[in-house]
Amino acid sequence: MKKIAILGSTGSIGTQALDVIASNPSLFELFAITGHSNVELLAKQARVYRPNMVIITDESKYASLKEMLSDVDDVKVFAGMQSVCDMVAMSSVDMVLTSMVGYAGLQPTIAAVKAGKTIALANKETLVVAGELICSLAAKHHSAILPVDSEHSAIFQCLAGEQNKSIEKLLLTASGGPFRTFSKEQLLHVTKADALKHPNWDMGAKITIDSASMMNKGFEVIEAKWLFGVDKEQIQVVVHPQSIVHSMVQFTDGSIKAQLGMPDMRLPIQYAFSYPQRLSNTYQRVDFTQMATLTFEQPDTEKFRNLAYAFEAMDRGGNMPCILNAANEVVVHAFLHDKIGFLQMSDLIEWAMQTLPFMANPTYADYVATDAHVRKMVAQKIG
Ligand code: NDP
Ligand code: MG
Repeated sequence: MKKIAILGSTGSIGTQALDVIASNPSLFELFAITGHSNVELLAKQARVYRPNMVIITDESKYASLKEMLSDVDDVKVFAGMQSVCDMVAMSSVDMVLTSMVGYAGLQPTIAAVKAGKTIALANKETLVVAGELICSLAAKHHSAILPVDSEHSAIFQCLAGEQNKSIEKLLLTASGGPFRTFSKEQLLHVTKADALKHPNWDMGAKITIDSASMMNKGFEVIEAKWLFGVDKEQIQVVVHPQSIVHSMVQFTDGSIKAQLGMPDMRLPIQYAFSYPQRLSNTYQRVDFTQMATLTFEQPDTEKFRNLAYAFEAMDRGGNMPCILNAANEVVVHAFLHDKIGFLQMSDLIEWAMQTLPFMANPTYADYVATDAHVRKMVAQKIG
């Protein structure tokens, strides 16, 4: 039995992970779940799935969670990020699914890596902000990091039985999001409701906006660099609107392997949980006879500047990806609260990268300070 802790069980990835665990009760045991603000759903999940522990990171919600679970005596209730960090290091935990959104995932991921746990990594922001630190800690503490992001799971599956030195390049596919065919002029007027309508994937609000702005793909480029140890020149983004080819690896002999499947996150979640085994399931299958076409095109980095900024941040290294991420979290929040327009998000990110202090060799404390400073400055600029 693999004992799994789900960080962010109330989110899109978290709820799908609970489904995967419930479908395989003889293989996986749910040890702990965490949520931040959705106390009702967290309490319901604790009642239905009966983990040993439930943690609400927003401490002000502890009393109501405790109250909602007052008749459930086999589930221990805790609050706060420190409780999450303590929980992931417990000897009963085998695997930690990092499915909370944003920078908030960094601290508990570090705690899990330092405890040598196997990480099923959904929270890509962690690798964007501090990829170098996470990878060196993972090597030191023998913590395996298994990708959950569909593109990285695809690459990971293509690399089974291969050596990393045989990689010529990674072909990271992108749906292009809801605005793929829009002109710059049209992008000026898109609303948050338009941006929240992703053509192929049903995800949390923040990553859905990141997908519409192509920042998600930019983050995934940085994520791929750290997960697979490749250089910038070895990562190519290819727009593939149907989201059936989840990514590809081109090898040094010119051969290309691709992983295909329906757009359903339960598949990469399940693969990370069961790796190196494959488990059977009844999820929808790809039917090639029903598929009109699979198409591929070049991304437009003039229209979707975030993708270019992510490549630039990766190239500069140091705390630049941390600046990129913090600025992005603030502008996405502002866009979701109707404070700025869609294209202003990229303007502000560009401003932050050009203006805020660069550090070539940041420590963990420097990342924390950079994140706080960038958030403050970008929020001030928005006003
Ligand atoms: P959601 O917004 O659906 O869920 C986010 C989760 O994080 C919720 O459980 C939420 O709790 C919790 N959370 C929010 N803020 C905090 C905080 N400050 N501290 C601790 N926990 C917090 O996001 P998704 O599930 O869509 O995405 C999660 C991660 O997975 C992201 O990093 C995303 O990039 C990545 N990912 C997602 C994919 C998808 O298909 N959704 C695909 C690939 C990667 P609550 O709701 O209770 O407030
Ligand atoms: Mg992805």
